[in-house]
Amino acid sequence: MNTNEEQNFKNEMEAVFKLLSNHIRLNILIMLENKQFSVNEIVEALGIPQSQISHQLAILKKHQLVSSQKIGKKNFYKLDDPHILNVIESTANHVKHVLQGKSHSEV
Ligand SMILES: [Zn+2]
Repeated sequence: MNTNEEQNFKNEMEAVFKLLSNHIRLNILIMLENKQFSVNEIVEALGIPQSQISHQLAILKKHQLVSSQKIGKKNFYKLDDPHILNVIESTANHVKHVLQGKSHSEV
């Protein structure tokens, strides 16, 4: 990687971690971890206005954290990238042992 490519790489890494650190986006990603949902279903489940949900979904899609598929007239979103699933599952497992007051080696 040349300097420019390296900078782009780090910028995108940082962007992905920022995407994961937002309350609404994290809730969306956790919801989509096992099942695809329509925008309306996400809106109802999270109790957040549709404009905000649509805005966040567009950002997540732009960075390939979610993908969408049109079924009938509805757009369904899912989390189908194994890299992002791994990040979320690993983070969830880490948080579980931290909340139990245990170190990684004690789990
Ligand atoms: Zn850990």
